[in-house]
Amino acid sequence: MNTQLVTNCVRAGIESDSQYGSVIPPLYLSANYAFEEIGKRREYDYTRSGNPTRNLLAEAINQLEGGYGAVVTSSGLSAINLLLQVLKQGDLVVAPHDCYGGTWRLLNALKEKEQINVIFVDQHDPDEFKKALELKPKQVWIETPSNPLLRIVDIEKVADLAHKVGAKVIADNTFLSPLGQSPLKLGADYVIHSTTKYLNGHSDVVGGCAVAKAQDDFEKLVWWANASGLTGAPFDSWLTLRGLRTLEVRIKKQQESAFKIAEYLNEQPKIKKVYYPGLKCHKDHLIAKKQQNGFGAMLSFEIEGGFQELKEFVAKLKYFSLAESLGGIESLIAHPASMTHASMSEEARRSAGIQETLLRLSIGIEDCEDLLQDIKEAL
Ligand SMILES: *Cc1c(COP(=O)(O)O)cnc(C)c1O
Repeated sequence: MNTQLVTNCVRAGIESDSQYGSVIPPLYLSANYAFEEIGKRREYDYTRSGNPTRNLLAEAINQLEGGYGAVVTSSGLSAINLLLQVLKQGDLVVAPHDCYGGTWRLLNALKEKEQINVIFVDQHDPDEFKKALELKPKQVWIETPSNPLLRIVDIEKVADLAHKVGAKVIADNTFLSPLGQSPLKLGADYVIHSTTKYLNGHSDVVGGCAVAKAQDDFEKLVWWANASGLTGAPFDSWLTLRGLRTLEVRIKKQQESAFKIAEYLNEQPKIKKVYYPGLKCHKDHLIAKKQQNGFGAMLSFEIEGGFQELKEFVAKLKYFSLAESLGGIESLIAHPASMTHASMSEEARRSAGIQETLLRLSIGIEDCEDLLQDIKEAL
């Protein structure tokens, strides 16, 4: 990670107020902006199309990702939806078989309406992936590390193959944040984020962002975001910008704790399997090491026994809230089969390897010893 980028991100928009010299950038809630005179528009006219507060956030994320430009959207899913707007009817999308449940639901619904074509593939299976590419997709989606099993996809390799057939490559970088991984540098054409997660980091905003590497791709996103009304709210952007300033310090602590907790769980006889890319026994550990900066703060595991044991374990935890979402300052536990991945069909869940006994942790910034002790007692 370029340390200058971290500093720029901390200081995004600081001392930019020319009217009062406010150190923290002001929040522009206004829906509209007065024209100077007929035919003379200022930089902004209407907040759906553009807003100074939202643009500050967009530029801060864009710099972190190293793109040409970014659009801030009302949610992660609206960033995904925005990227699907650029497709024509019947265009093919190749998506990972274990993608985020909401992404899976949206792609499937659009496919059922015959708006677009979608194939879900296991991108680890070179034959399956190559067969899908022979059908000339327009977009190839990557989600790495994946949710909830933390599978890693080699972004460079997938992007190379996808570009050979003329597809655009979109990486969902939500699980690591721009500090953990730079998909655009590895060959992706776009990055999307659910800023609800690490970028805002305080579980008090739902938001998203789409970053484009090329100018023409960015301009299309800007046009469609305005035309379809997917842009984010100014107050949400202001809060997210505040959260973004502490991204590096949060992630550092969360990652360190996640590593210790993964190692601890991995040694427990009551735990059947731990999924964390930082463990040497993780099957994609080496790819993660190559393309990531750190291993993130998300992990999942299967416990021995059945649903009853799982329920008792979760109920005993004090410092892990049973809730969806991730990437906030607070530690969370989720049961993917009944929560985050309930929007997937049972068959799709099975093919993605999501068991009934799987639990997912999002590690927060609480004291790591307290978190470990909590897990120890619940086990
Ligand atoms: C949460 C999430 C999304 C969806 O974002 P929202 O802000 O909830 O709309 C997309 N992808 C991943 C990987 C996510 O974790």
